[in-house]
Amino acid sequence: MKTGNTAPRRLTILGSTGSIGQNTLDVIAQLGGRDAFEIAAITGHDNIDLLADQAKACGAGMAVTSNEGRYQALKDALSGSGIVAAAGRNALIEAATIPSDWVMAAIVGTAGLAPTLAAASRGADIALANKECLVSAGDLFVRAVSEGGGRLIPVDSEHSAIFQALEDDQQHAVERIILTASGGPFRTWPREQMANVTAATARAHPNWSMGLKISIGSASMFNKALEMIEAKHLFNVRPDQIEVIIHPQSIIHSMVGYSDGCVLAQLGCPDMRSAIGYALNYPSRAKLSVERLDFAKLARLDFEAPDEVRFPALRLARTAMERGGLQGAIMNAAEEIAFHAFVDGRIGFLEMADIAEAVMDQMIATGAAENMDAVFAADEEARSRAAALVLQKEKAA
Ligand code: NAD
Ligand code: MG
Repeated sequence: MKTGNTAPRRLTILGSTGSIGQNTLDVIAQLGGRDAFEIAAITGHDNIDLLADQAKACGAGMAVTSNEGRYQALKDALSGSGIVAAAGRNALIEAATIPSDWVMAAIVGTAGLAPTLAAASRGADIALANKECLVSAGDLFVRAVSEGGGRLIPVDSEHSAIFQALEDDQQHAVERIILTASGGPFRTWPREQMANVTAATARAHPNWSMGLKISIGSASMFNKALEMIEAKHLFNVRPDQIEVIIHPQSIIHSMVGYSDGCVLAQLGCPDMRSAIGYALNYPSRAKLSVERLDFAKLARLDFEAPDEVRFPALRLARTAMERGGLQGAIMNAAEEIAFHAFVDGRIGFLEMADIAEAVMDQMIATGAAENMDAVFAADEEARSRAAALVLQKEKAA
């Protein structure tokens, strides 16, 4: 953090009204708020009251809603504040493009891709919470960051843990990346029982408090599937070097295994503010008010192998990595449609993976991820194929 006469660090928060976004503003407030940081822009979608309150509280230069229909509401809520209000997809890109040193990428889903790319291309440091950027456009996204010249600092707790456990200049000695997974609320449920769960049951995560998509994704382990692909791109490892282990307490956030048999782990209470604070202060560490681990109280840490029959998403991630090309984008887009259909009560819990797998198989011959247009085209086609399968399943039910 710069202090004294130097200009405050300028930050942008894409998706400030979400779970990660709110935690980011909390960390910023803890670390000095307006005295230490200047907020270039924040963005949200539907929750205009919260977006306007946040913008006023942190003194943002610009507030953007991606929902064009809410422009007037945002403008009214910000009137007299001097904060620029804007709306729509282009405004989102503009928010990502105006100069800042550090950008929190915390928009959920594929909607985060274009603005995060814009921020990466102009050379900002990217604190990456949005995993879809790497799942859908891994190589292109990593290249955009490298050409832009900024740093890519993972915020997803597992990837932050791995980033912290990776020793400088020891990439050659990395044998395996071990992603921990809580196993979600259905860890011990038989498959037949999982078939009938509702979104309300599925979103109740045992350890972490998170947004809707990632909570449902934790229950289906689709979130872990995205994280496997995310790890492949972030840490430049082969698919066979990525392991998943169920660890119900979510205390070990992930591990790196080295060629001498040593394993380095990062531990902490399940609180995203630790990973956000790490990304904001990297390469230093700052004092954060988060709960401290009490090992005596914890008493034990448990581990078990994941069950790829009850949680086929893990198998799909391996398939996507083996096939390469646009399969990550296809898997992600199809699952996003299936996720919305499940939340709307249109399909069952287990049908989400069925749909993702069917669309991946249908589009197996789709060409390579040569540029972003190819990614967006595959994304769109996968969505329409998934939507057709949702309709089919609804009719059959
Ligand atoms: P969330 O649903 O709580 O918030 C998402 C944010 O995106 C909100 O600000 C929302 O307004 C905005 N948004 C929604 N739809 C949009 C659209 N169409 N266009 C533009 N903006 C839109 O989600 P979250 O849990 O904060 O997760 C954000 C990202 O971080 C996801 O990619 C998720 O996988 C990742 N992540 C979250 C956690 C967590 O603990 N919540 C942990 C690790 C990674
Ligand atoms: Mg995670």
